[in-house]
Amino acid sequence: MRHQLCTRRRAMFMVLPGVFIRQVSAKRMTRSKTVRIAEFDASGKRTGVTEVERIEKSDEEWQKQLTPVQFQVTRKEGTERAFTGKYAANHDGGMYRCICCGTALFDSKTKFESGTGWPSFWAPIAKENVKNVSDNSMGMQRTEVECARCAAHLGHVFTDGPKPTGLRYCMNSASLDFAPRGH
Ligand SMILES: [Zn+2]
Repeated sequence: MRHQLCTRRRAMFMVLPGVFIRQVSAKRMTRSKTVRIAEFDASGKRTGVTEVERIEKSDEEWQKQLTPVQFQVTRKEGTERAFTGKYAANHDGGMYRCICCGTALFDSKTKFESGTGWPSFWAPIAKENVKNVSDNSMGMQRTEVECARCAAHLGHVFTDGPKPTGLRYCMNSASLDFAPRGH
């Protein structure tokens, strides 16, 4: 039974459209059990900073909760193929939360049209809520962006973004869950 599951999972992975996977390095070090996260209400208003438990789950648990694409992107540091994600061209007002744990990550007010085919923002909704990690994979020096609470891989941040920050948070739609303003 276990063997069948593995086989099925591998086959599923191979047919995922354009999700590129790389080996995850052993970067998870010992760290505190809690993290301070900025909270927001449905209108996007910041309501304070709360200390919350970090969320850590096994691959099996994440797979029950996520679609195959969401799992490969957030938990295996995959990248969805450009222009395939559902939020690249989303111009509605609202908030983008982590698909894994619901932490508020980006507000539509900072979203801009980058032309890359990935949803792009010039700032996170709160610096507490994302974490930058050095990423030297694939022969490039990049800065990976993670959810601060559950360590979901979100995408990368580059320094060729628009004003006022000059940053371009190049995110995967698969890592995000959009809620229109007021919902
Ligand atoms: Zn998260």
